[in-house]
Amino acid sequence: MSGGSDTSRELVSELAALLGPEGWLPPDDIADRLVDFRGVFTGSALGLARPASTDEVSVVVRTCAAYGASVVTQGGNTGLSGGAIPVGDRPTVLLTPSRMNAIEEVNTARSTITAQAGVTIQALQEAAASADRLFAPDWGARGTATLGGGIATNAGGINVLRYGSMREQVLGLEVVLADGRVWDGLRALPKDNSGFDLKQLFIASEGTIGIVTRAVLRLHPLPSAHRTAFVALRSLGDLDALFALARARPPGALSAFELIPETGVRQVVDRFDIVRPMSTVADWYVLLRFSGEPGVGDALIDLLATASDDGLIVDGVVADSTPHEDNLWLLRDELTATRSFGGFGVKYDLAIPPDRIERFLTLASAAVAEILADALSYAFGHVGDGNIHFTVLRPDGDDRDLERVAPDITAAIDRIVWDLGGTISAEHGLGRELRSRIVGQKPEIEFELMRTIKAALDPDDRLNPDVMLPDPPAR
Ligand SMILES: Cc1cc2nc3c(=O)[nH]c(=O)nc-3n(C[C@H](O)[C@H](O)[C@H](O)COP(=O)(O)OP(=O)(O)OC[C@H]3O[C@@H](n4cnc5c(N)ncnc54)[C@H](O)[C@@H]3O)c2cc1C
Repeated sequence: MSGGSDTSRELVSELAALLGPEGWLPPDDIADRLVDFRGVFTGSALGLARPASTDEVSVVVRTCAAYGASVVTQGGNTGLSGGAIPVGDRPTVLLTPSRMNAIEEVNTARSTITAQAGVTIQALQEAAASADRLFAPDWGARGTATLGGGIATNAGGINVLRYGSMREQVLGLEVVLADGRVWDGLRALPKDNSGFDLKQLFIASEGTIGIVTRAVLRLHPLPSAHRTAFVALRSLGDLDALFALARARPPGALSAFELIPETGVRQVVDRFDIVRPMSTVADWYVLLRFSGEPGVGDALIDLLATASDDGLIVDGVVADSTPHEDNLWLLRDELTATRSFGGFGVKYDLAIPPDRIERFLTLASAAVAEILADALSYAFGHVGDGNIHFTVLRPDGDDRDLERVAPDITAAIDRIVWDLGGTISAEHGLGRELRSRIVGQKPEIEFELMRTIKAALDPDDRLNPDVMLPDPPAR
């Protein structure tokens, strides 16, 4: 069936009747959902479906299929690769599980939490904490990003170092498939070798093969103590040695290790209600946290003393109160180029083997300077996982020159990343933005296998078309 305008009108009136005024919003009411977080992608849709249950998600998907329309799923719209924006000519319904935001069970005996896909990451953290447990995934968009979006992008954040990313938390999933059938895989078994582990297919699949509607997730013991420190590195070359030292004492206590540039500190202190952590100024800082037993505070202080004796750091502070600690983590949350510079620049979410981060930053900054002399190379990130958020900016905010040379900068960065054995998408997914750039980075057979899975689960390419999967090579 074609997606002509009469057909689209029929589809819209059927969905509006099925879902009611709470469940269906016309395009004029959803302008903010048709632009992505960074303002890079703008899309259009026949309307926004807001189903209230898994059955309603299934009905929406079936109805769209009957009318030949695509379905793009959107959670909190905080994704950074454009995967949640319906771009293209096909008639498309935008679907969000925002009304499906119930936390159904916190099971302390099993240490699991079961929730619907539209719940926010922060709500999961709070529900776990009130049962004396930790829901570990945590990142700056926690108040808006949803469970479904976090699973679909396999989001990570500051605790990956110790607890792993979303993939390590998911024990079971419920998914609505492209033909509307519901797969109930909500099992909470830490061990289950009864065939393919299908839930893994849907984690990081960016809405391309199914819509996550519910999940059961692992909880962890709430650490009885934690301490945060902010240290000034003598030089970036000492990062690796500090990381090794921090990881070794006491084993497992290091739960976050974030690289922070002075350029970022200056910006966020100027722009927001954030106090400069120390008077010492260095080019690079590390924000690190130890969590676990009450002794971790002493261990952290001891680490700082050793790092100072070894000449790795020139100064450091250990947070001695909750507001002090909050100030340090707020500084980290506001470091994105969008927040700290009020602009977007050209951004890269890279993973580099941790021992090659200094080399990467040296090579990448030199490559950028050669292409556009007055551009600023801005880097921060979860370096304990090898994850660098690298942004190229014009500090004066005039991005015109930058736009012109952005393809050259991207080609240079990609080459350096690949040469160093890294990846161009550490945690934000491929979305619309990176799906072509990933070609050449992995063996073509991996893309063939991915396309085979997509064709098996969504043969008519209805779910998030043109997201994540690169086009097949021209024959
Ligand atoms: C300030 C800020 C800080 C961030 N920090 C980090 C970080 O430290 N670590 C990190 O990993 N990420 C980080 N992110 C990006 C992170 O990927 C997103 O915040 C999050 O994963 C997306 O959740 P969402 O609900 O907003 O999904 P959306 O942006 O709405 O969607 C993202 C993708 O998931 C798909 N999707 C959404 N819901 C579903 C569903 N129910 N079923 C199937 N597919 C679905 C969409 O189609 C799209 O492809 C950050 C983002 C921001 C804005």
